[in-house]
Amino acid sequence: MPQNNSIDNLFSLRTNGDALIIAGPCSAETEEQVLLTAHEIAKCKKVKLFRAGIWKPRTAPGNFEGVGERGLDWLKKVKQQTSLLTTTEVATPEHVEACLKNKDSVDVMWVGARTTANPFSVQALADALKGIDIPVMVKNPLHPDIKLWAGAIERLKKAGIKNIAAIHRGFSPFEDTSLRNIPKWELAIEIKSIFPEMLVINDPSHISGKTEYIPEIAQKALDLNLDGLMIETHINPDKALSDAKQQLTPKVLLQLLQSLKFRKSSLNNSEFLNKLDQYRDQIDSIDYQMLELLSKRMDIVKEIGKYKLNNNVTIFQLKRWLNISLTRKEFGETIGLDQQFIKRMLKLVHRESIRQQTEINNKE
Ligand code: PEP
Ligand code: MN
Repeated sequence: MPQNNSIDNLFSLRTNGDALIIAGPCSAETEEQVLLTAHEIAKCKKVKLFRAGIWKPRTAPGNFEGVGERGLDWLKKVKQQTSLLTTTEVATPEHVEACLKNKDSVDVMWVGARTTANPFSVQALADALKGIDIPVMVKNPLHPDIKLWAGAIERLKKAGIKNIAAIHRGFSPFEDTSLRNIPKWELAIEIKSIFPEMLVINDPSHISGKTEYIPEIAQKALDLNLDGLMIETHINPDKALSDAKQQLTPKVLLQLLQSLKFRKSSLNNSEFLNKLDQYRDQIDSIDYQMLELLSKRMDIVKEIGKYKLNNNVTIFQLKRWLNISLTRKEFGETIGLDQQFIKRMLKLVHRESIRQQTEINNKE
């Protein structure tokens, strides 16, 4: 009988601990496919949780929609035969009930991107989970609405779910892009800032859409100190009934996990911490200087605003703006700043200047 991983361990906040690695097929298709994949994945001790969708939300009807409840038996066998814990997607209260009824089949449930986007569905899941001590992972909604993502997590918290993790699977681009979903990393960081105690796991498979982009996305997630990875893995990806292009073979998964750089989120070493503090003192001082300069700049912007108003001249001056853009970009480059960064920063400052001057006009 294999020694099973402990759930408590899985969801305890990773400080300097290991990243939580989740792997398994997009969909459970046959018992053989599930067990072969699980046994191969279990060879890598880094993987703790086996994923497989048995109810599949598909964007268009007519595609493979999952094997349904009988897949739970296969997950149970994964648990019996390997050291892996299991997770599957639930989208309705009936799915939740089926998982709970089939004891020892599912350790962790996850809420998919299409469900997170619908507060009615999330509330129905939260109601079905009331009083039940099972961990739940919440994928981000398809569109980049942080409030909807955080709201879904709140609903589950209110239902008494103690162990909740977020899964960052990227956001629908609404047009053809090389990545299947736009990462918008800042939102993964934002959800972490809203719920600092919660694990945020990256799903490079759904962001990438193609296996070739997975290593880069996964490494970026680790470098941003996200708490784990969920990677779709199939014993025979070419024959997969869903998401064939983005699934790795277990062999490639193992190679990937060996080549990724798992860094520590910090170092408990006084020499390192002292040096870091010194650098940060310098950054702090520069930040305050920058803010003071910006404030001085805004004072002059306001003076100019009054001057333009008194002389009945428009706020926006195209020629001046084009000149500012060009000269600052040219100068910035000579001192090693990135062109795109300068462009974005100038736009932000210019927008604020216009806002300030508009306020002066409105007071008139
Ligand atoms: C999945 O994990 O297979 C899935 C359907 O993902 P998402 O909800 O992120 O689209
Ligand atoms: Mn999938």
